[in-house]
Amino acid sequence: MSEWGYIYKSLGATPVINATGSVTFLGGSTPVKEVKEAMEAADSAYVPLVDLEKAAGKRLADLLGVPAAYITSGAGSALTLATAAFMAGIEDNKIQQLPDTSGMPNEIIIQKRQRYWYDRCLEFAGAKLVEVGNEKGTTHRDLVEAITESTAAIAYPVAEQNPVDPNILSLEDVIDISHKQNKPVMVDAAGQIYPLENFGKYVKMGADFQCIAAKYMGAPHSSGFALGTEEVIEAISRHSFVGYEARRIRGIGRPQKIDRQEIIGVVAAVERWMSLNHEDRLAHAEKQSKLIMKPLLNVAGLEVELNNNIIGHQPFGVFISIDKEKIGISNEELVIKLKNHSPSIWTRIPEDEDKISIHVFGLNDGEPEIVGESIKKIINNP
Ligand SMILES: *Cc1c(COP(=O)(O)O)cnc(C)c1O
Repeated sequence: MSEWGYIYKSLGATPVINATGSVTFLGGSTPVKEVKEAMEAADSAYVPLVDLEKAAGKRLADLLGVPAAYITSGAGSALTLATAAFMAGIEDNKIQQLPDTSGMPNEIIIQKRQRYWYDRCLEFAGAKLVEVGNEKGTTHRDLVEAITESTAAIAYPVAEQNPVDPNILSLEDVIDISHKQNKPVMVDAAGQIYPLENFGKYVKMGADFQCIAAKYMGAPHSSGFALGTEEVIEAISRHSFVGYEARRIRGIGRPQKIDRQEIIGVVAAVERWMSLNHEDRLAHAEKQSKLIMKPLLNVAGLEVELNNNIIGHQPFGVFISIDKEKIGISNEELVIKLKNHSPSIWTRIPEDEDKISIHVFGLNDGEPEIVGESIKKIINNP
């Protein structure tokens, strides 16, 4: 019963070809062989999770050259736990008081132009997001004046695969301004795992915390980790589900549980990532992208372009754009027709963009050809 997607079909759910990339709504990613083997080895015994988290965190910290690390149920949980740590620190009565933040600094400052999809994770522990600056940008003075006694931390998302925004304060400036007022800086670097020197870079630059999403590097999709100073990581551990169960201190981290197998899986994924032949990895992604493009080159009315970005978590990919006058359907209609195709192929037009952006992150062998041929078939007969 190894037919493609059988396990889903047997439930009456329809499996799809994921040409979108690592998106959580399609299940995001698939653990690699080395990770699955390590997770399987974890089954053979139980282990106190306080000890396992410490040992695993130390291994990650050593591998990445940062002071400390903590494995969490995704980068999203690392963000939430970090806000809890910045608001309540390590005082047990405050840990148990959250998400009621009375008597604590409870504001997380973020530049208006940096608002993003996952910033909601900064509020789940009870914090309030406070915007600094406006649509046009943020000045040095804006941030200096925004920081008050109620400030718990300053948040800073990074996406180095995108062009630099000249209108926002740089991370260097934010760290400088915030630290002068004794306030911590937390960086969402979930996808910043390549080039390898970016991996852990923001803590080395002086940020107090950064997160990484292990979903992007062959670990279980539900896992991630925090990197930071020893003080911040210790506080995160106390707010976590492990602290809740092992210390009998009822913090907000309890629903964000992670298995011992997943903790082991994250360590295996980071070890693999640090010693992986990334040239081979990138060459494979480029080859898959070109296989999608092959049947689509020189089709009148179709613009096909290789996305050759290799920074971050999703290297390469293909941009596709249709001339509706010539072909008769729009980009949006092609996305829908691909979804309704058999097999169903999921692609998307990213928010604020007009081309279809295909990523090969979630494609199995043989699927790039199916994606390219299916697009050609639909265009030939729209
Ligand atoms: C995926 C992602 C997250 C959330 O990470 P999870 O591990 O899914 O919780 C947060 N921030 C960014 C930039 C991401 O790409």
